[in-house]
Amino acid sequence: MRFWIQSRNDELSNRLLLEAKDYLLGFGLIFDEDEPDIVLSIGGDGTLLHAFHKYSHRLKKTAFVGIHTGHLGFYADWKPSEIEKLVISIARKEYDVIEYPLLDVTINYQGDRESLHYLALNESSVKSPDVTLVMDVLLNDKHFERFRGDGLCMSTPSGSTAYSKSNGGALVHPSLPSMQLTEMASINNRVFRTVGSPLVLPDHHKCILKPVNGPDFMVTVDHLQLLHEDVKSIEYEVSSERVRFARFRPFPFWKRVRDSFIDNND
Ligand code: NAP
Repeated sequence: MRFWIQSRNDELSNRLLLEAKDYLLGFGLIFDEDEPDIVLSIGGDGTLLHAFHKYSHRLKKTAFVGIHTGHLGFYADWKPSEIEKLVISIARKEYDVIEYPLLDVTINYQGDRESLHYLALNESSVKSPDVTLVMDVLLNDKHFERFRGDGLCMSTPSGSTAYSKSNGGALVHPSLPSMQLTEMASINNRVFRTVGSPLVLPDHHKCILKPVNGPDFMVTVDHLQLLHEDVKSIEYEVSSERVRFARFRPFPFWKRVRDSFIDNND
């Protein structure tokens, strides 16, 4: 089996990287950055986002597992003290693979510039670089609303505990192949009106955002943020691709939610 380790690059994560690497090499596994079967991410959820994007071209072949060196994470849910147990389970292939839905992001441009395509593990958000964002929201090609405000965010179920939650989105179990649109500070008065509630869309629905004023937007895809110019539309769909996590023990989503946001003393 081939493995690769992604570290947050702090002292503890780098020390654990060397420890895990030594263990796994000792078990006869091969350290391979190009074609790993399993990627250990040591750091936080943010570190796992980086690992995901590094290997997003080979999701069918690479599974991920995260060790947290800060607070408990949603993707990084192993403690540093469990590293020995974890590497033994990896070496013996004693794990199941669970799959989570992803978000397809397509940015279409004016003129004949080719569209760009991205996969998001957490979410994609759209903001205007300087003024209020004004976007027409189309659901399944039908006009739904004209949004005015700070921005819009489309999240995956596993991303619902991240940016989407800060926007007042619901927490969505990752077994539901869906995407969730949340508003950031929408302007609502007698003239301007949006639905004002997060929308959870199933995997056969499509959401298109069409610029009304300027054609330039700040678009984020997880930790990546880029200015896109001359945008014609931004399309969101639940992806047909999925991310695979190696699961060594049951750790239910709602338990992770409780441990992260309410109380982790059992
Ligand atoms: P960052 O600003 O360094 O970290 C943002 C925080 O989000 C970190 O505490 C990270 O956890 C946490 N996080 C990431 N994915 C999560 C998930 N699925 N569930 C719960 N928490 C999660 O940025 P980054 O590390 O590059 O991560 C980019 C992510 O930041 C974006 O995908 C977005 O979700 C999030 N973000 C949130 C807000 C907000 O809530 N207002 C604003 C911008 C971006 P760790 O500490 O474990 O890494």
